Amino acid sequence: MMYITKKMIEIRSLLQRVGQSSSVSLPSIVVIGSQSSGKSSVLEAIVGHEFLPKGSNMITRRPIELTLVNDANARVDYGEFPDLGLNKVTDFSMIQKTLTELNQSVPESECVSDDPIRLTIHSPRVPDLSLIDLPGYIQVAGRNQPRELKRKISELCDKYIRGPNIILAISAADTDLANSTALQASRRVDPRGERTIGVITKMDLVDPDKGTDILNDKQYPLRLGYVGVISKLPTQTGLFRRETGNLLAGITRNEKAYFNNHPAQFGPEAGVSTGTITLRKKLMQVLEQQMSSKLSETTDAITRELEETTYQFKVQYNEQPMSAESYLAASLDEFKHQFHSFANSFGRKQLAELLKDALDQKVLDQLAARYWNKPIEDLSVAPYQADRLEDLPKAEPNSPYWHRQLDAACSGLTRLGVGRLAATVAASAVQSNIDKLLDKSAFAKHPSARKVVSEAAATVLADRSYATSDGIEISLKPYKFDPDIQPNEWEKGREHVVGVLQGELEQCQGALKNLENSVGGRKKLKEVMSFVEKARKGDIMVEGDHPSGAGGFSAALLARGREAVFLRDRADIINMRILAAKSRKCKSLENKYYCPEVFLDAVATKLTGTAVLFLNVEMLNDFYQRFPREVESKLNEHMAGGGLDIFAREDAKVRRHLDLIQRKELLELVLAKIQELNRLSGGTIGGRAGK
Ligand code: GDP
Repeated sequence: MMYITKKMIEIRSLLQRVGQSSSVSLPSIVVIGSQSSGKSSVLEAIVGHEFLPKGSNMITRRPIELTLVNDANARVDYGEFPDLGLNKVTDFSMIQKTLTELNQSVPESECVSDDPIRLTIHSPRVPDLSLIDLPGYIQVAGRNQPRELKRKISELCDKYIRGPNIILAISAADTDLANSTALQASRRVDPRGERTIGVITKMDLVDPDKGTDILNDKQYPLRLGYVGVISKLPTQTGLFRRETGNLLAGITRNEKAYFNNHPAQFGPEAGVSTGTITLRKKLMQVLEQQMSSKLSETTDAITRELEETTYQFKVQYNEQPMSAESYLAASLDEFKHQFHSFANSFGRKQLAELLKDALDQKVLDQLAARYWNKPIEDLSVAPYQADRLEDLPKAEPNSPYWHRQLDAACSGLTRLGVGRLAATVAASAVQSNIDKLLDKSAFAKHPSARKVVSEAAATVLADRSYATSDGIEISLKPYKFDPDIQPNEWEKGREHVVGVLQGELEQCQGALKNLENSVGGRKKLKEVMSFVEKARKGDIMVEGDHPSGAGGFSAALLARGREAVFLRDRADIINMRILAAKSRKCKSLENKYYCPEVFLDAVATKLTGTAVLFLNVEMLNDFYQRFPREVESKLNEHMAGGGLDIFAREDAKVRRHLDLIQRKELLELVLAKIQELNRLSGGTIGGRAGK
């Protein structure tokens, strides 16, 4: 009947994953005892390995849920920490180290935590058992231990020693049983001693007569009785070497030697139970019995729970299936769909507009640097004034000065690295569109997956960036020497540049307005501006930029005044250039030296047209083809090793849906296992499961 306990322990582990409710659980053996009662030694003797945290200051701070699996196929003994994903740890000192670290991860201020550490040990030599090692009761709080540690440990133990769990109450033979904290605690919850097994350790430390008296104790009678053990190996004995791992064999030999040596006290006639082997057998029997008797009640609770879960699944989710995989697939499909609509709407035309906008700015820069850069003093004296159009630069077609100016501006534009600029403008437009799509997609709720997709876009774009920009530069080469503007291009340039200049004018005016507001109104700004201008012309003497200002204006105010003068002058010039571009003179390509704005705009349009042909093929189409594949491969990497589940659970709605389905599936699995157990045992166990 060994398999029954094994199956029930399996069921118990599954139930632990279902939830906290105590009605859908199966009992375990909880081990309690005060510090130094020998609790760890007993557990290690049962397991046959040293694996528990040791050290004088080592207080167990978290329960250890220990599942022993009798595994005939295990060639070597090993432990597993399912919650850490640590499998097949064959080195028990590693297990000890891991437990110590997990134990220490509880902050001192919290004292103890009720979050259990789950550890499974497989071995052909262990019985199937489920044990919970709890922090040892503290008799007297140590100097460095927080006061509430004692209380918190008691509370934690109280939570676990409730029925139907079996209590393994450890007390040392060399201390008075009346003072045993473990027995006191067990009495509180199990006053009739029906589910407590008493373990008396350190039997070797008391006189055999006293030892047998303790085991026959009538003062604290326990239905399951007491077992006396000696869980420590004598240090001087050469019979056993710890490294062999066969701790139990050594302990058993030592116990036999001692108990057989005192037949009157511990022999068959004495009617007492002794030895770790006896204890192990008892634990197996009692656990199996307790689990079996609880099973039908648990089965009912599981059935009710399953009915409730199935009902919730129906009303809340209309029985709609859901898995992390299907959620990811749906999220990705939806994103790809959005991406395709974007790809259909974003092509050459949109690229051309973006690149032309960027080049418009470069045209303005050239104009500002080569044509609008009169010193402010000169401007104020006049050649550019709206009412004196005739005074616009003469720009005689024969003047070598204006030839040089236009050539320099044009070459400044064609050689500014249009290839790089075009590739950058295109890449950042695509990237920001992808990021916007992501913000509207399911990925918005999954920051790390969102990042993966966004980075996939960046990678694909960066990949083509150099080749594209080089290609563009080569294709633009002819324009660097002769832009060759045609009359129709000139006409278009003229229309367009007026709009660009108007946009620039509005920006200047907007900035002026902001300055006005920031100094407290137009009147105030005018006052500062007129002071600044007078100072410029030398009508007023101002000594440098005095930190405390001048003319009754603070330094900050003067700085704003200077900025405002600059902006106003810039606005005047632009105004004038708008009039010039609109004028009859600028209608003809022949007057290009007089109309640099129109000429440069026409050149910029030419550059744009050629660059965009390249961008479209080399960068955009390539991106549209490669990006979806790159996203899939990068997401696959990201979702490996548990990432998929984390991803799906980041969305609260999906998490609840998944939880409910998982719960339902677990409950169904548990019921199926109980039915199987019932069949195997010929109906003697969990009798109601099949009904
Ligand atoms: P815990 O604090 O309750 O886990 O107690 P330990 O298992 O660490 O034991 C406390 C001390 O008692 C250790 O030094 C053990 O070696 C010793 N000890 C445990 N069991 C026995 C035993 O049966 N006989 C003797 N002589 N010493 C024991």
